[in-house]
Amino acid sequence: MLADRLAVVTGRPARHLGLALPELRDPAPDWTAWRHQSQPGCRRCDARHGGGPVQRLLPHHHYVCTRHRYWIGPPDAGQPPTRLHDRVGDQIVAAQHRHNQLIAHYGAAAVFDAVLTGFLICGHFWTQWPQRDRTTAAVRQWEQRARWLIPPGSESTTYSTSLLFAAVYPEAVSLATLITDPVWRQRAYGDTAGQRVFLTEAHRRLGRNVPDLNDKRADPIRHWMIFDSHRPPSRPDKTFPETREYGATRPANPNSASRERTQREAGWFAVKRCGGSSILHHRHVRPVLARDWATQMAGMTATISASASLSDYGGIRAREYDRLHVAIGEHAAPTMGLASFV
Ligand SMILES: [Zn+2]
Repeated sequence: MLADRLAVVTGRPARHLGLALPELRDPAPDWTAWRHQSQPGCRRCDARHGGGPVQRLLPHHHYVCTRHRYWIGPPDAGQPPTRLHDRVGDQIVAAQHRHNQLIAHYGAAAVFDAVLTGFLICGHFWTQWPQRDRTTAAVRQWEQRARWLIPPGSESTTYSTSLLFAAVYPEAVSLATLITDPVWRQRAYGDTAGQRVFLTEAHRRLGRNVPDLNDKRADPIRHWMIFDSHRPPSRPDKTFPETREYGATRPANPNSASRERTQREAGWFAVKRCGGSSILHHRHVRPVLARDWATQMAGMTATISASASLSDYGGIRAREYDRLHVAIGEHAAPTMGLASFV
């Protein structure tokens, strides 16, 4: 076996090598709990490694080094982690602690889905279409945090979409605490009274007035309640072994196309100072943007718009999904129903 041969060559036990190279672990780790791409870790944590720059494969929930207050975030075109400004550090570090508690309580799969859903909801409310959203108090906080994270005038050197995720991270985690909680989840898909309680609380957390349940306008929170709250958590759309990086001898360099896209987005952000659209287009939210049961739309713009819409666009895929998964007993509710007949 490769790990044993390497152990002989390096003189280190295979178990130790597995700590540095997760591909060598036996049994293999649960790759769905890990990101599919390696990235630079916290600069200060990595400084003790004498062998040059360190690439880390991190679990999904690792967004902040809480010890050194570096934002690590989702990988973004080879950008290094950023030291958090004191004016925003406390809230973002506190959110990482809450995030870790959620993991301890509900496990990696449920929390992966919930935090990404939180990012998706924040991304929708932080857009400028059709005009700046003045009805969401949280938007002002995101703009404020973005001023410390990406100071106006410095966008060409400090911009990264990863930092926009940092700006909304406290609210994304706050929404995730509702989304992971089975009692709140049940309200979200329960009777009208329960739905109203959920809707009020979720909107309150973003400083929004509660929409009327008869209002048919797009709303990412209501979209989640109607289409997603009663279905299982969405999973990562790619795992590390499915990438070219897996087993490669050197990390992949960010390609020039993604560098160019970052430059374009930096220019756009310098003008608009609004981060929602970049968050919604970032591949980090992809697993919850187009879920397994969502109607497939033509193109990114339609997919994003559908992810906040209250229309099911036919719902054929959702019915097919439910038929298949109820048939193999994946849904908790029908299984419990059957058990009570036995
Ligand atoms: Zn650190």
